[in-house]
Amino acid sequence: MPELPEVEITARRLDRAAAGATVESALAPGMVALKTFDPPLDALAGTTLQGVRRAGKMLVVEFAPQGGTGGELALLVHLMSAGRLQLFDKRASLRDRASRILVRLDGGCELRLREFGTQQRAWAKLLPADGVDRDEAVSKLGPDAFPAPPAEEFAGILDQPRHLHPLLRDQRAIAGIGRSWVDEILWTARLSPFRKATELDSEEVERIRAACDECMGGALEHYEEVIGDSVPDKLPMPLQVHRRAGEPCPRCGARIESVHFKDYVMCYCPEEQTGGRVLKDRRLSRLLK
Ligand SMILES: [Zn+2]
Repeated sequence: MPELPEVEITARRLDRAAAGATVESALAPGMVALKTFDPPLDALAGTTLQGVRRAGKMLVVEFAPQGGTGGELALLVHLMSAGRLQLFDKRASLRDRASRILVRLDGGCELRLREFGTQQRAWAKLLPADGVDRDEAVSKLGPDAFPAPPAEEFAGILDQPRHLHPLLRDQRAIAGIGRSWVDEILWTARLSPFRKATELDSEEVERIRAACDECMGGALEHYEEVIGDSVPDKLPMPLQVHRRAGEPCPRCGARIESVHFKDYVMCYCPEEQTGGRVLKDRRLSRLLK
């Protein structure tokens, strides 16, 4: 799932490549991904693509009318776990079943929302540009995780009696962190995913805040270095513990352990995060019942 650093680098690269282009036409093959019908997707034809920015883990592509007819429009895109928004220099074959939304630009380029796998969960909404911040997907977002909010605000976000792992992934509490970067942030802060946020002292809260900046800022710096003009299908995520169960912890050498949930895996270093305790793997305990 693309999270703040992955969506941010996507927005930056798309903005660099596509801003200023004229839209020739737009279509949504199958119509499944487009959640709005007014204004129609056709309204993009003849507009200028103004730019691409990020809102939480979503992308906002902004369009302005040419010649002063109609208002500015914005395509709000949520990639969910398997979507990608990419610019291609050729148009998609209409047989490409991964295509969800195609925005054809002058010069033969095409901005394409694609989704891999069998689930169709990625979505887009075409909205009046000034309606983006009022849309419920955006208006309920907490402050961005990067740059991390100031200490006092951050402490307020964590003042909830919830486990750190789900709390940090709650977009309404803090925006941009998902299942990959939460493992990295908690490992960097040397805190258990099952610690209750309200039980942290101020020094521990500050460690999480610093880890947000270190992990997400570090990832973004990495992407700026290694990603060229276009963002590949699979980003080279600089992960140290997530998806690394069974490998030695890069800091202390202990074996990275994992807890499997229905649709994700939590990874952590028992030596540094849980006082040496290996947490119960729910997948195994279910099998043993
Ligand atoms: Zn360790």
